[in-house]
Amino acid sequence: MKKNLLDVLVAGAGPVGLTAALCLNKAGVHVSVADAKSSGVTHSYALALHPASLSMFDDLGVVEPILAESTRVVRWAVFEKGRRVAAVPVAEPGAKFPFIAVLGQDVLERVLAHALGARGVPVHWNLRLARFGQSATSVRVELDELEERVIGYAAARFDWLVRKTHELETKFLLGADGHHSLVRRQLLIDFQEHRPAEHFAVFEFDASQLAKDEAVVVLHDDGVGVLWPLPGGRGRWSFAVDPAKYPEAIREKDHDPVQVLGSGVFPALESSFFHRLLAERAPWFETPIDHIYWRMLVRFEKRLAKRFGEGRVWLAGDAAHLMGPAGIQSMNVGLREAGDLARCMTEVLRGGQELPRLSEYNRQRTDEWQTLLGSCGRLVPGPEADPAVAARVETLLPCLPASGRELALFAARLGLRFTM
Ligand SMILES: Cc1cc2nc3c(=O)[nH]c(=O)nc-3n(C[C@H](O)[C@H](O)[C@H](O)COP(=O)(O)OP(=O)(O)OC[C@H]3O[C@@H](n4cnc5c(N)ncnc54)[C@H](O)[C@@H]3O)c2cc1C
Repeated sequence: MKKNLLDVLVAGAGPVGLTAALCLNKAGVHVSVADAKSSGVTHSYALALHPASLSMFDDLGVVEPILAESTRVVRWAVFEKGRRVAAVPVAEPGAKFPFIAVLGQDVLERVLAHALGARGVPVHWNLRLARFGQSATSVRVELDELEERVIGYAAARFDWLVRKTHELETKFLLGADGHHSLVRRQLLIDFQEHRPAEHFAVFEFDASQLAKDEAVVVLHDDGVGVLWPLPGGRGRWSFAVDPAKYPEAIREKDHDPVQVLGSGVFPALESSFFHRLLAERAPWFETPIDHIYWRMLVRFEKRLAKRFGEGRVWLAGDAAHLMGPAGIQSMNVGLREAGDLARCMTEVLRGGQELPRLSEYNRQRTDEWQTLLGSCGRLVPGPEADPAVAARVETLLPCLPASGRELALFAARLGLRFTM
């Protein structure tokens, strides 16, 4: 990483950090990206881009490679007790992107990192933000360069050691460093829990006959189920599971906001468990499943940072909020935050705006998340909503694959509206 004074250092090369760096680079800002890991994620995790995210990637000139790797979902259906109670388009008529693009988070990260590299902004892997201190005009940052070493004698183990610590000065630090965010923790920002955590049993499978253009949400007394078609004749079912009902599935030895609890060897995630969930909650689902190739049990907390930063250090993405997986809201809202924060920082750097511009970012982000977490305002049914939808409005809110202005429009298509 170059030593001269940076405009913005982005800590974290997940989807949010990479997008922030692309936005800043497009605005002519001198930006650099550091990530503690040795490469991006290796699995799909957050797997869908809302239409608003696609418009943003279009502006950044990266939508083509994203679409080339994606499946397009145009319809979003709701089932309850075996009945299809709603089916709505995922975008407004005439939208430039009238679909949700489904692609693995690993693929998205690869496309974004490649685009950044092509624009002369390489991601510095194995470079971990260790600490920082800010003044009125800049942020002094220490970054640990990590090196993998074999340790142990009789049984070799691998561990990461600090090879060297680099010091750097930057005008802004953008913390897109995920749910464990060092940036958030060093700023002593509370990460408050707004709703109880939920456990999801997730199964990915080959199913060549699965409809490619429709995502499904199943409403059930035991929790929601969500079906997404994936590229390559694959699909993903995620079922909220109540820990009390499936105690053998739950191991909470350490407390981690997004915790992977099980894998293929875990009893509760055997294919018999998957078929039992399908039989109980989605008996209408008759698409043959050829092979389950991936499964996990994840615990998602629902948290929001008390504030999104201060002075010259700001947060975006999972560093500031956590949500369940159903509507892919955390990543997609995070992408918008990346764009908003990049715009605010650019305006301040160009001298047109003062730092209070960033307080506005804080207010808008907090308001939006309080709405999404159901802490402020309420989603209420209108007369045109199906009774099953009307009865489970609170459950549906985190499942809606939209945010901001599009969230209200999406809700309206289901006969729902927001009130204060
Ligand atoms: C197991 C799992 C399953 C998930 N499943 C779903 C799902 O089904 N649906 C869904 O919507 N979402 C899911 N998510 C959440 C989704 O992955 C996140 O919402 C998304 O990745 C947020 O992107 P981000 O860029 O904010 O943070 P992240 O993707 O977490 O990226 C943060 C980056 O910061 C880096 N970093 C951390 N600390 C430092 C440091 N000190 N210095 C430098 N770099 C640092 C990390 O290495 C990482 O690359 C899942 C997450 C996990 C972990």
